[in-house]
Amino acid sequence: MSLNIAIAGAGIGGLAAAILLSRDGHRVTIYDQFDAPRPVGAGFILQETGLTILGELGLREQVEALGASLTRLHGISADNQRTVLNVRYTALRKRLCGVSLQRCALFDLLYNTALSEGAEIVSSARIITAIPSTGHLTRGDGQTTGPYDLLIDALGVRSPLSSRSRHPLTFGALWATLDWPDESAFDAGALEQRYRRARQMAGVMPSGQLTPDGKQTLTYFWSIRADAHTDWKKAPLDDWKKQAIALWPETELLLEQITCHDQLTFARYDHRTHSPVVRERLVHIGDSWHAASPQLGQGANMALLDAYALAYALRDHPDIDVALKAYVKMRRGHVRLFQAMSWMFTPVYQSESVVLAWLRDWLAAPLSRIPPAPQILAGMVSGAIGRPLKRLGLKPGD
Ligand SMILES: Cc1cc2nc3c(=O)[nH]c(=O)nc-3n(C[C@H](O)[C@H](O)[C@H](O)COP(=O)(O)OP(=O)(O)OC[C@H]3O[C@@H](n4cnc5c(N)ncnc54)[C@H](O)[C@@H]3O)c2cc1C
Repeated sequence: MSLNIAIAGAGIGGLAAAILLSRDGHRVTIYDQFDAPRPVGAGFILQETGLTILGELGLREQVEALGASLTRLHGISADNQRTVLNVRYTALRKRLCGVSLQRCALFDLLYNTALSEGAEIVSSARIITAIPSTGHLTRGDGQTTGPYDLLIDALGVRSPLSSRSRHPLTFGALWATLDWPDESAFDAGALEQRYRRARQMAGVMPSGQLTPDGKQTLTYFWSIRADAHTDWKKAPLDDWKKQAIALWPETELLLEQITCHDQLTFARYDHRTHSPVVRERLVHIGDSWHAASPQLGQGANMALLDAYALAYALRDHPDIDVALKAYVKMRRGHVRLFQAMSWMFTPVYQSESVVLAWLRDWLAAPLSRIPPAPQILAGMVSGAIGRPLKRLGLKPGD
């Protein structure tokens, strides 16, 4: 049965769903607020979960060619020089790794594939409400579109179609994409972080290249309280650079590339799980269903898993209501698990808590080296815990 489907949001989840659903013969229209196609946000890590879904979309090889292959996540506490984060993907499986890349690189691949599969993409369309009973969407310009057989909310963390956050997180991050320096003290196969207690955190992540012959890049992160962002913008940039260099002297060379505040983009994090996931003809995927801090690096991967699960359920069940129930059943356990883990782990790296930082440095770090902790950590970071791929009939690397 061919359905007439509207997807609100041309982000990672929305575009992946559009590709899969168009391939299955549905008529797909995507609405996004952007005036011209453009991704919003920092570089990120695709884990084995997300990479397997990209394999199903036929994009894995291209993503791997553009991205940087990450073998470990490594963090040092500047207070005591102890290694307090040391996750090696290979602790779980030989040759397992993450791929970190610029958001634009993935966006371009998804966007062009969605178009070539026949999805229609409508830009400058800010969605403000949905009418789940009739399958209509209302736009900011007053236009109503529909009716559709199915409305997919892929509007991300601040979707007007899902519930408001009751837990906006205290900390967010400033981030910038920079050129990978010729002479670098950084590991091209690692996401590296430095912490001072849990109050300060800086990260350097290789983020590959935008085009096959483009420059190698990295994404630099600086953790900042959301309520300190305005003051940070007003203060001289050099005041902040002094703090950043004091935390991590080797970043001085990188920070030379930052000459004005606007080069750093502020990302505010939220933690929220929307319920119900399905209401009549409206279904949520990605951050609009489950937003979390990116500390565990799962959000984009979860959006890809959701998109695949939804298409899979619609393929398997001719009745939409039954298909939507099957979709929620396939994804709910994994979503709950990762929401809980993210809620637990985020304050260990981003909070005012002295106690949590102390426990991290002196208790959790030594324990994390004792088997089976390295395997569990690698399973958590690669998204394997909860076996989300198995629930979708997939194997890692399919
Ligand atoms: C700093 C940072 C680092 C991150 N690092 C990682 C990482 O390493 N690994 C990982 O897996 N995840 C990471 N994430 C999380 C990841 O980016 C999100 O989980 C993921 O993008 C969610 O995908 P989505 O499709 O649900 O929403 P999005 O990708 O956010 O897409 C939403 C789309 O909806 C559009 N839109 C929004 N509102 C409207 C509206 N009202 N009307 C019309 N269009 C609208 C937007 O323009 C956008 O195109 C990170 C996030 C941040 C902020």
